[in-house]
Amino acid sequence: MLKIAGLSSGYGRVSVLEGIDLEVDNQEIVVILGPNGAGKTTLLNSISGVARATTGSILFDGKDITGAKPEQVVRMGLVHCPEGRRIFQRLTVEENLVAAHIGRAGKSFEALRSDVFDLFPVLKERRNGMASRMSGGQQQMLAIGRALMAEPKLLMLDEPSLGLAPKIIHQIFRIILDLSQTGISILLVEQNVQLALECGDYAYLLNTGRVRVHGPAQEIAQHSALSDHYLGSA
Ligand code: ATP
Repeated sequence: MLKIAGLSSGYGRVSVLEGIDLEVDNQEIVVILGPNGAGKTTLLNSISGVARATTGSILFDGKDITGAKPEQVVRMGLVHCPEGRRIFQRLTVEENLVAAHIGRAGKSFEALRSDVFDLFPVLKERRNGMASRMSGGQQQMLAIGRALMAEPKLLMLDEPSLGLAPKIIHQIFRIILDLSQTGISILLVEQNVQLALECGDYAYLLNTGRVRVHGPAQEIAQHSALSDHYLGSA
């Protein structure tokens, strides 16, 4: 589904990633771990067309999307749910969903909204409420709901558990697993290493812009590199 080979990228003259190889198969949950500043967000930005690839290639669904614009990438079904729940704070839940609907494929706005409300009943209850008045967990749900309005084949989630209470974090991870069951592939950046590895199929550990270790999530959970790369930096 997604195949990245030899990717280097950064911002302007600042080089961040070097020689990244990474794959996501159909319906797989792939986890990207790494300490602060490792380049995880930059990797997602490079895939979604926000950061420029300087070398290497990115194939999605067999098509070369290296250098494609963010709006082209999202229309192909590769959807980025960014860190910090970048929702429209001054719009209502409903308005946020309207703004996220790009009319990509078959489903109508009403059908997509109804899927989102089934997944997150609290968004239905609060549909006319201002986004800024919701809790952190509810805002995160709205961020995921917005991403789902674009009908992703592959959903990239950047630290969806950030700053949330443990109970809500478990709920969010449960939903990630449910989404995967519906056939959506997931690329998940997480600082919550243990839960991410329990939920994921495969994992990559990034540090200083390179993949240091990768393998099946259960193996990575046992890997000594995990503590080496996090000690003193996480
Ligand atoms: P975190 O968990 O802290 O978000 P991360 O692994 O996602 O870390 P990135 O945000 O990808 O790391 O940052 C990697 C490097 O790129 C850092 O050194 C950072 O300072 C730099 N960087 C990030 N965004 C920009 C930008 N817009 N312009 C220039 N440099 C940037």
